[in-house]
Amino acid sequence: MADFFAPLRLRLDEDALLSNWRWLKGKGGGAACGAAVKANGYGLGSVEVMRRLLAEGCRDFFVSNWAEAMALEPLVEEGISLSVLHGVRDEDMATALSSRARPVLCSPRQIARWKAADGGPCDVMVDTGMNRLGLDWRGDVAGQAAGLTVVTLLSHLVSADEDASFSQTQLERFSLLRTSVPAARYSLANSAGICLGPTYGFDMTRPGLALYGGIPRSEAVGHIRQVVFPEAQILQRRRVPAGDTIGYNATHVATADMEIAVLNLGYADGYLRGFSGRGWMRAGDMVLPVIGRVSMDLTAVDVSTLPEVGEGDWLTVDYKLDEAGRISGLSQYELLTGLGTRFDRLWN
Ligand SMILES: *Cc1c(COP(=O)(O)O)cnc(C)c1O
Repeated sequence: MADFFAPLRLRLDEDALLSNWRWLKGKGGGAACGAAVKANGYGLGSVEVMRRLLAEGCRDFFVSNWAEAMALEPLVEEGISLSVLHGVRDEDMATALSSRARPVLCSPRQIARWKAADGGPCDVMVDTGMNRLGLDWRGDVAGQAAGLTVVTLLSHLVSADEDASFSQTQLERFSLLRTSVPAARYSLANSAGICLGPTYGFDMTRPGLALYGGIPRSEAVGHIRQVVFPEAQILQRRRVPAGDTIGYNATHVATADMEIAVLNLGYADGYLRGFSGRGWMRAGDMVLPVIGRVSMDLTAVDVSTLPEVGEGDWLTVDYKLDEAGRISGLSQYELLTGLGTRFDRLWN
């Protein structure tokens, strides 16, 4: 135990994480269920997330770049696969060639680079309509991939979180590629794609958001559990007389005498200003509204109804991702990946 504790913490629910993974696995038909652990495991801590998912049977992990891969490499043992979604730049080659992770090659130049270095097994990304990363599906993908040992051929869905016919179009394009481009495995679905049904599963799925409690589509409601519970400590409790204002730019005027608590939490921690005057904290069953502007390191909440809480007590941030997203105008992805380094991260 450290002898110093941060005044803000994330309580992280291991049971919920693992239960989410099992639900997503079940929805993928017979597909293996991997995990996107990029962006420090969506803010939870990639090493801690990967360790837990490994113990549950997850074998395939995805990060964006080689620095992220290096942090996880000690966990990559025989039979565990770690893929780097952004492939290899020249600057990555030395690292990539000596790493147990493998690149997801996503451009003809990356492929040429990997072949010239005789890099060994790799993944390949095909773009089936997103126009982001990957070989153009209309091109000669099989020709471009010839000579590579492709472990997994991937593509990524554009709008699986909506009821858009484009997912079906991408499914058809990817199914066709599957018949023409040799690979040991094929993988298309992210969290939202998994919710579209087992036809999107192919050999392996790659959920991120829903593992961490995000609700990508209505199918996940009631199945995906909240994993991240931010908590912040009260730094000061104060009485605000009617007519006084609270916080920067005096956006809140007390219409009656009130009591507020000032919390060790602010936008530098990822609790962004979209929660100003709109977010909520909890103390047991009591719901406490955020008052005025969220500042960089501090947030005020109305505790008039709770005479017993004060300096040193902890409040839980209401952080149900779908609701918090609606309130703040942020995506569920932003709500997770923005969670800063000042939180202690405590797994139950
Ligand atoms: C981030 C990412 C995922 C995970 O997506 P979620 O929407 O978070 O489930 C899967 N595949 C690729 C290529 C990604 O970049």
